[in-house]
Amino acid sequence: MQAAEAAKLQQQWKAKGSPLCEHPELEREYHLSMNTGDKVCTTCGEDFSRAEWKQMGK
Ligand SMILES: [Zn+2]
Repeated sequence: MQAAEAAKLQQQWKAKGSPLCEHPELEREYHLSMNTGDKVCTTCGEDFSRAEWKQMGK
């Protein structure tokens, strides 16, 4: 997922009142064609650093 797309998801999620998200699915985050090493939640758009998503077992 593009970083810009993740930012949009985050805004939409906030607009819904930031309900609790269990981050069921994470996707690699890209800035244009570059892999940022982070992953983003496809539901709420929150981004996680490599250390974070490894710890989550994703
Ligand atoms: Zn989430």
